[in-house]
This record gives sequence, C-alpha cells and structure tokens, in this order.
Amino acid sequence: MESGWVMSVFDDLAGQDRVVAELRHAAAAAAAVGGLSSTAGAESPGGAESPGGAESPGGAESPAGAQSPAGTESPAGTESPAGTQSPAGTQSPASLDGAGCAGMVGAANPAGARDAASTSTAASEGRAGMTHAWLFTGPPGCGRSVAARAFAAALLCPDLGCGHCASCHQVLAGTHADVLLVRPDGLSYGVKQTRDLVLRAATAPFGGRWKTILFEDADRATEQAANALLKAIEEPPPRTVWLLCAPSPDDLVPTIRSRCRLVTLRTPPARAIAAMLTTRDGVDPEQALQAACAAQGHIGRARRLATDPDAARRRADVLGVPFSVDSLGPAIAAAARLIEAADAEAAAVTAGLDEPEETELRKAFGEGSSGRGVTKAMRGAAGALKELADRQKSRATRLKRDALDRALLDLAGFYRDVLAVQFRAPVELANSDIEDGVRQVAAATTPESTLRRMQAIMQCRERIEANAHPLLAAEAMTLALLTG
Ligand SMILES: [Zn+2]
Repeated sequence: MESGWVMSVFDDLAGQDRVVAELRHAAAAAAAVGGLSSTAGAESPGGAESPGGAESPGGAESPAGAQSPAGTESPAGTESPAGTQSPAGTQSPASLDGAGCAGMVGAANPAGARDAASTSTAASEGRAGMTHAWLFTGPPGCGRSVAARAFAAALLCPDLGCGHCASCHQVLAGTHADVLLVRPDGLSYGVKQTRDLVLRAATAPFGGRWKTILFEDADRATEQAANALLKAIEEPPPRTVWLLCAPSPDDLVPTIRSRCRLVTLRTPPARAIAAMLTTRDGVDPEQALQAACAAQGHIGRARRLATDPDAARRRADVLGVPFSVDSLGPAIAAAARLIEAADAEAAAVTAGLDEPEETELRKAFGEGSSGRGVTKAMRGAAGALKELADRQKSRATRLKRDALDRALLDLAGFYRDVLAVQFRAPVELANSDIEDGVRQVAAATTPESTLRRMQAIMQCRERIEANAHPLLAAEAMTLALLTG
C-alpha cells in the first residue's frame, strides 16, 4: 500500500503499486487535459440514438459511428483524425473523439505509434485522445476487477478517486448510473447479453464525464459475443470507456486485444495482502498472514478465510482429504464430500441471487397490479421467467465449478508444500497452519509420488473444465491420491 494516501479508491489493491501509479497518472491526465465542450456527448434532442450506438453532438454522425474531427465521414469508420486513411481495422482505439473529451496520453499499447500520431494531432487542437478500451489482466484474485472499478471511480471523481465522495461511494458500491458492472450470466457471455450491453453502452453518461462498462471475465465471451464486443470497441461512442478484465491478454481474440491499452497486475505478495487485511478489515496480523499464505495470492479468498468461519472450515475439510484417503472406501467418500462442499458453497451464493431476480421480473411484468392488460402481460412473463430460470441454472453450474476448482487448488497447494519440504526448498509454505501434517506426508512419501498426485489434481481440473462429470472426475482423482 502506498503511504501518503490515507484513503482512496485504490486502497483495496494490495501489492500493485506500479499499476496504481499508472492508473492515477492516467486518470489525472484525463482530467487535466480537459475541458469538455458543453455539447459533448449530450443526448440528441429526441433521445434517438443512432443504431451504431454513437451519439453525435452535431447530429451528423456517420452510420458507423466514428467521425473525424475535420467532418469528413468515412463509411467504414476508419478515418483518422488527421484525415489520413489507415489500413482497414488498424485504427487505434484512442483517437476518434470528436467531442473535445479529456484525454490520456502515453498509451503503452502496441498501437502506441498510432496513438502518438493521433495524440499530437489532437494536442494541436487542444485535446488528446482518450483510450476507450482497457484490458486489465492478472491471475485470478489479484484484484483486476478491483483495479478496473477503482479506475472507473477515479475517472468520475472530482478528486481522482478520493474514496469518500458520493461519486466514489456509488462506483464502489456498484450503484453509479454511469458505471455498468457486467458479469457473465452463466458459464459464458452470450451474444444477447453482450448486444444488450453494447446498446446500453452507447448512451451518453447521465451525470459523469464518462460512461464506463466494466466487463468482468471478458475471456468468457463466446465467439459471437466477442464479435459484438469488438464492434463496440472499434467504434466507441465518444464518452464511453470499456474496461475489460481477463486472466491474460491471450485469453482474448487478437482483434480485441490489440485495441485495448493493457494494464498488467501481478500476483500480490502474501505480506501485502496481509497488511491490507489488517488495515482494511481489522484482522489480527498473524491470522492475516496465515490466510494470505493459504490463499496463494487470491485477495478475495484470503479475506474470506480470515473473516468467514465457514470458508475456513471448508478449507480444513479439503485439506483433510490427503489424510483420510487411506483405502478405496474413504477415497470414494472423499470425492463425494468435495462435490457436496462445492455444491453447498454455490447454493449459499445462488440462494441470495435467484429469488430477488424472479421477484423483480414478476414485478416488471405487472404481477400484483390489476387492470386491463395485466393478465395478458403475465402470459408474456412465462417466456421471460423460463429464460431467467435457464440463466440461473447456468450460473449455478458455474458457481459450483468455481467452488470445486478452488478446492482442487487448495489440494494442489497442499502437495506443493509437501514437495517443497521433500526438496528442502527454502520457500514459505502456503499451509503453514498445518505444517506438521505437511511434514508427515512428506516424510512418508516420495517426491515422485507427490508429483503424480499433483498431476492427478490438475487432470481433474482439466476434465471438469472440459465438461466431464464432476463426481467421476473427482473419484478418479482421489483414487490417484490413494495409489500415489
Ligand atoms: Zn471521490
């Protein structure tokens, strides 16, 4: 954590000082460069938005949504501000802002050269190009969506992310009208969900300077969804900023990747996570460090382990597996327990989500009210309810898989500790709280068998990822743990 910033939207980013500095700089540049013209991004008089999604201050928007400042429209939307046609599809994401928006300079993406060109052009006109698409990458739990949300807050806050103004509060709470937070409904983003989003993204900000769409798990976009997203990023409305999050740049198709400015987060060190748990959540320092080590760089998981007794108990159950698997029966039972625990964890989450969604939908279709048309509307609701149920089912499946995957990673972490002890590697154990057990297993087995066990766990993860039956995959794994 940085010193000198007692409270800011970036406080929840543990061990990412370099990224925080970069985002602060970008937000400051965006604010400093500039005055927005009064008409910038204003809704067109009738509220009619162009199908391409971009609103034109002057009303003379090209069909493709991108207009050069010189007023020469290019049907394909690839006109550069300088008026020089760029090769198809290679337009930088940064520049097509004809509305005098504030900008960010020094984009460090592969399109840097073009950015520089457009920025200098823009600067000569008293403004700079805003980067309309950002890609936050880093391993799961490192804080990429936290970083994206903090950046969205910094862009909208008069103090660049003070953390305590109304705007910052709303962004962090997920209630700001100009920040859309999007997660996949189910296992992936469907094309319908993405298209809806693209349409909503095209509207002007309500009150803030930017309309920001925070697209979590962008790697889960289906091919069709990615195409819809690509179109939106290629032809960004002047005041819209896309913040995509994915584990690595390679998880996105190159066409999207190349249009984004990359922000790379690292796996936060355990000590940085522990320090944050202590200052932000009031966790006892020793307990915080233990949770941080056990979570292996996953901040949210570290926080849950430190603050939620259920999470700590589930982890203890999982780490009991290596000790309970001593013959066929217990091995099979251990697999069943892993699946049950993951299902229970997922159910706890979905129970809180499903019911309010259904109530909301019924209300939207007029249930509870009376009068002409209500009966007819309720008939229409049946289809929507079915669709909602399907989405909820798909989400439940994903949450179960995620929970099971976390359990498998805990298990793999245990054997990694065993291997470290067997090789006398000078590393900090992830499971220092059960060090005696780790040493016991290490002494009783060989490094070769430890490696085989780790492989079995990784194979189980791959099988489940490839849609194998979770219980069968888990049984194959626990049997491999037994034989070693
Ligand atoms: Zn603020």
